[in-house]
Amino acid sequence: MISVEEALERILSRIPRLGDERVGVVQGLHRVLSERVVSPRDLPPWPNSSMDGYALRAADTQSAAADRPVSLQVAGHVAAGHMAERALMPGEAFRIFTGAPLPDGADAVIPQEDVTVDGDVVRIPRWVPMGDSVRPRGEDMRTGDVVLEPGRVLGAADVAVLATLGHHQVRVVRRPRVGILSTGDEIVDLGGAIAPGQIANSNTYSLMAQVLEAGAIPVNLGVARDRLGDIRERLSWGLGCDVLISSAGVSVGEHDFVKEALSGLGAEQHLWLVNMRPGKPITFATIPSTRPGQGMVPAFGLPGNPVSAMVTFELFVRPAIRHLAGHARLARPVIRARALGDIPNPGRRRGYLRVTLSRDDGGGTAASLTGDQGSGILRSMVAADGLAVVPGDTTIASGQPVEVIVLRQP
Ligand code: AMP
Ligand code: MG
Repeated sequence: MISVEEALERILSRIPRLGDERVGVVQGLHRVLSERVVSPRDLPPWPNSSMDGYALRAADTQSAAADRPVSLQVAGHVAAGHMAERALMPGEAFRIFTGAPLPDGADAVIPQEDVTVDGDVVRIPRWVPMGDSVRPRGEDMRTGDVVLEPGRVLGAADVAVLATLGHHQVRVVRRPRVGILSTGDEIVDLGGAIAPGQIANSNTYSLMAQVLEAGAIPVNLGVARDRLGDIRERLSWGLGCDVLISSAGVSVGEHDFVKEALSGLGAEQHLWLVNMRPGKPITFATIPSTRPGQGMVPAFGLPGNPVSAMVTFELFVRPAIRHLAGHARLARPVIRARALGDIPNPGRRRGYLRVTLSRDDGGGTAASLTGDQGSGILRSMVAADGLAVVPGDTTIASGQPVEVIVLRQP
């Protein structure tokens, strides 16, 4: 049996980063940038007004005071989207609006609410320092500035920058396609009638949702019966994907054929038993791809119990998907919380126990068990904000610190 860390290391060391693709800038959201974005010009390209008001020369207003306003001739008009028809001369002001380019000769703007207007004369009641209410050329970016570096996870502001620079598209790391197979004679897919002894397929759908949450594209490979040929055939349908996941049938029972099916596809197996609960039997293998130019497809055989499948996905598959997609940060955030009530982990394996998180009296975070930790109990997964990591044969006593993998903000 190997540790979770060792298992993850064996997995990640066998997974490449995917290639790039060009997508629309909005489709680039949350994706990993794979190009350097450089500004081809100064932005803004010209000084412009940040207020509705009057463009003028600061020097003309030097002697202005409330009781001795300076009068300037309103000799022009510049709206956003237009250039001034001519340069501003000493003694003149141009009516100007927010975002409009400053006329040549002007170097400041006074907001309209600060002046009085009398016909085509505007009275300036104070000194207007140079640059007032003006956004200088290049205040945001200068020609040649590297604005976005490769490796960056694109957010909404990055999308704004790309649009500002005129990019319709952006080069990002490809989204992994993840094939998902459920196995088991007792499993009935959505829409089927459930006879005695059968249960509804939930793993396919929880895994598809987790794949989406991880930023990848799920591909449903259906439900295989507990027969070697069926499992092998459906797995082979998924060999054009970037990752394969199966659930159940991976233990040592007489009806557990996943490992054999993987071998039949030429897979090399890299791990089987991991020191964790839930979810000890998990396999990770690499299978030669059927897609030209693609080397090996990583394949995960996850346990069948619904909670075990979800937790092993979190610990192993999610980091693998994020690695494929070019992310540098693979892990969920881990916090230190205070146990609210005892958190016991009987048994020798390291426990990943479902907890809810709440505000602690001391301003920190408190963690309390969601209830019974059976690996088939989905409702305690529904209630879970995180997974408390507890060494084997250990009880975290109420009030003691405990490490928690945060799955969602409570
Ligand atoms: P196994 O690993 O095949 O022994 O399955 C372990 C448990 O997980 C059994 O109780 C199965 O009925 C259950 N199980 C397996 N596959 C699914 C699935 N797709 N959806 C819900 N439960 C499942
Ligand atoms: Mg089974």
